[in-house]
Amino acid sequence: MTPDWQTLVRPNIWHLAPYSSARDEYTGTDANIFLDANENPYNRPNNRYPDPLQRELKKHVSRVKGVPVQNIFLGNGSDEAIDLIFRVFCRPSKDNVVAIEPTYGMYSVCAAINDIEYRRVPLEADFSMRSDQMLNACSKDTKAIFICSPNNPTGNAIDRKEILNICEKFSGIVVVDEAYGDFQRGESLSKSIDEHPNLVVLSTLSKAWGSAAIRLGMAFACEEVISFFNKVKYPYNVNQLTQDEAMAMLGRSEDVDKWIRMILAERPKVMQAVSLLPCCVKVYPTEANFFLVKMTDADAIYQYLCNRGIVVRNRSRVALCGNCLRITIGTHSENSALIAALRQWN
Ligand code: PMP
Repeated sequence: MTPDWQTLVRPNIWHLAPYSSARDEYTGTDANIFLDANENPYNRPNNRYPDPLQRELKKHVSRVKGVPVQNIFLGNGSDEAIDLIFRVFCRPSKDNVVAIEPTYGMYSVCAAINDIEYRRVPLEADFSMRSDQMLNACSKDTKAIFICSPNNPTGNAIDRKEILNICEKFSGIVVVDEAYGDFQRGESLSKSIDEHPNLVVLSTLSKAWGSAAIRLGMAFACEEVISFFNKVKYPYNVNQLTQDEAMAMLGRSEDVDKWIRMILAERPKVMQAVSLLPCCVKVYPTEANFFLVKMTDADAIYQYLCNRGIVVRNRSRVALCGNCLRITIGTHSENSALIAALRQWN
């Protein structure tokens, strides 16, 4: 559905005159003496502010992801885009958002920071999502629906038809977080942003691209949403070192494909070995670089592994995940060390 932007965007953001930086005002290429930004003329190249709109980097993202540059927002991790959804669209203490439960913890934390009611809709027993239940949880003040696919921590992908049904029927923003999408077969929903102006698809270099340290997240959306994000973001939100490294990484898609293949080849072996352990109750199917496993005693096994220098994620206090650990697929030798340690548990 095409939102009525003026009613969807917070009134103060709609009327905001954004900060205009020196690098926003001069965008030509002819000048070679820059006395406009109070920079130090020494210590090149780090003395200069980076491009606030990361135009060069966006060309690389566009080529790799197949999304036009005008539909790309880049941020300090995809966490920045998550926070911007709240700051652009949600009126503190008035509006609410709806999200699948369980899911990535930052949605609820950002909601709390921005004083927004967070409505949790439990997934089914097999962790699938029902679009009717998501839509039923909405009120007139629901500004966004958060869907993570493949979902963290459950690992399963959410049915595309159910997501698109929400896009068609909901008049607010539908956020689809594809942080783990590179591990999944099938097309990214970023290819559907033209048909669905309320769809915001998140992606990141932190997972399959092996670059969590550099902090580069992406949001793909219609030009209106991108312009609201640009209005509210910090002027120089992606630093030059990150932009340079991200461009280098985006030229290494063959390496990334190889890493994905190696991780996906390891994944069934680790899952199979874990499923045969006496301490394993159930291994859940996954489309990500991790899987969820129900254990006999998740807390004790988590502590036991920590004592052996192996850290997994204890999700046992998360809704629908009682006694569950979330295990990331590592290298072959890391995975073997995990299995060997678990075999010695009794
Ligand atoms: N979305 C999901 C589902 C995640 O699991 C994570 C990181 N754990 C993020 C977003 C944040 O990623 P980034 O490093 O790009 O901020």
